[in-house]
Amino acid sequence: MTEEFGLFIGGKWEKPAGAKRFVTRNPATGEELGSFISASEKDTVRAIDAAQAAFKTWKETPAPARGQMLLRAAKIFKDKKEQLGSMVTKEMGKVIAEGKGEVQEAIDFIEYASAEGRRLLGETVPSELQNKYCFTVRQPKGVIAAITPWNFPVAIPNWKMAAALICGNTVVFKPASNTSRCAVEVVKIYEEAGIPPGVLNLTTGPGSSVGKVLTTDPRIKAISFTGGTDAGTKVYQQGAGTLKYVHLELGGKNPQIVMDDASLDLALEGVLFGAFGSSGQRCTATSRLILHEKVYDQFMAMLLKRLKTFKVGNPLDKNIEMGPVASQDQETKILSYIDIGKKEGAKLLVGGEKLKGPQYDNGHFIAPTIFEAKHGMRITKEEIFGPVLSVIKIKDFDEAVRVANDVDYGLSSSIYTKDVNRAFTAMERLEAGITYINAPTIGAEVQLPFGGIKNTGNGGREAGTIAIDEFTEIKTVYVDFSNRLQKAQIDIDG
Ligand code: NDP
Repeated sequence: MTEEFGLFIGGKWEKPAGAKRFVTRNPATGEELGSFISASEKDTVRAIDAAQAAFKTWKETPAPARGQMLLRAAKIFKDKKEQLGSMVTKEMGKVIAEGKGEVQEAIDFIEYASAEGRRLLGETVPSELQNKYCFTVRQPKGVIAAITPWNFPVAIPNWKMAAALICGNTVVFKPASNTSRCAVEVVKIYEEAGIPPGVLNLTTGPGSSVGKVLTTDPRIKAISFTGGTDAGTKVYQQGAGTLKYVHLELGGKNPQIVMDDASLDLALEGVLFGAFGSSGQRCTATSRLILHEKVYDQFMAMLLKRLKTFKVGNPLDKNIEMGPVASQDQETKILSYIDIGKKEGAKLLVGGEKLKGPQYDNGHFIAPTIFEAKHGMRITKEEIFGPVLSVIKIKDFDEAVRVANDVDYGLSSSIYTKDVNRAFTAMERLEAGITYINAPTIGAEVQLPFGGIKNTGNGGREAGTIAIDEFTEIKTVYVDFSNRLQKAQIDIDG
């Protein structure tokens, strides 16, 4: 019997009678993982009511005390790392080492954010007048909507929620529908850590309905959204109606450049992890290998040889290198892109099909796929979000950078070279929010800003101290203790 879960509103788990429900499934086996409520408009409005009601007290709770609550949550995440990491793997399909790694990423960020409770820095600057102080303080924005994707069902919600909470905001969390079980487990941990009622609320259900309420209710002051460009654009447009602050983290088409002087062994490990880690379903996944012609044949031979022993299977098995893709929708979309690649004349070098066999038949397994492609083909420009790598041959560094930059996205990028001048030139010229030198396009650390340019977002960044900017309003304070009217700009003239 599939376990039934409720909504978390005002500190209580609710299971409204007669509510519409949906299930999530293990993409490796088809097993049902839970049944969840498709929140109605009324449910979502109640969650916003609860978050609004809790805001004043949470805002007035000293930030270090808010930090203590986060530390308690981090401790519980640590205690449950195995269990929660397995649930990530079961619900989303990434291999178990990555499932646990994702929980660790959440722990890292929660701890990092908790320390912000003793900083939340403002600025103190000199006044142009005597006996006057000028400084800034940070204040929370209010109720935040956190709308998250399925590919990092524990880490991404925590990047948003821990940052929002430490700043004194309250949150309504709407997770991707097909990772609702992970979302419930995350919220239970905050409940166990003693988060006050209403400070964090969970509304499961479709983006089109739950998301619609969250993006249009005037009491939501900011939306932190990670997902695809289409949904992100809608969220941006819907949020504009009530002038919400909208932070978008969207897709990518990330290149790994391998120059003729690179360590090919290192670049090989990088591209395998970058392209096929999480079955290519990371926003920072390597989807283009831009390979110098002088090392092309040698590197491709190494890559294809290595793939012959690459193990695809149930991601809970520690020996498996790649699991399934996350859902039927993902399978359909990825296979359709493989078809597009074949039709536009890209040469299929390996993979290109749904895997068959007893260990695959109940799941969504696609073989690691490599195309030899020409820059400009759709598979080299559009986000596929699956284990599909396009290899593009280039003749020099300038061409490599030109090809790397000639896409609509700008999230991550990587170059393998031993030439320090080239590495720094690449760092300057690659159009992306993140550049790795001699490392794959994936592997962000929480103490640094994360995000992209071009169609990857609208200018914000997550993680690092900059995350605090996303969730606070800056108040500028002038204190005049001169006991007379002093006029900025005017008095200094005389
Ligand atoms: P979607 O854009 O389909 O969904 C993301 C979230 O938005 C889900 O919770 C979804 O709900 C919700 N949603 C969908 N439509 C609306 C709407 N109209 N209003 C409000 N909310 C809505 O993305 P995926 O979950 O498929 O995630 C994959 C995408 O996320 C990829 O494009 C990937 O590149 C991007 N991504 C970007 C990252 C970054 O940091 N730049 C990191 C990770 C992923 P529901 O599930 O119910 O449909």
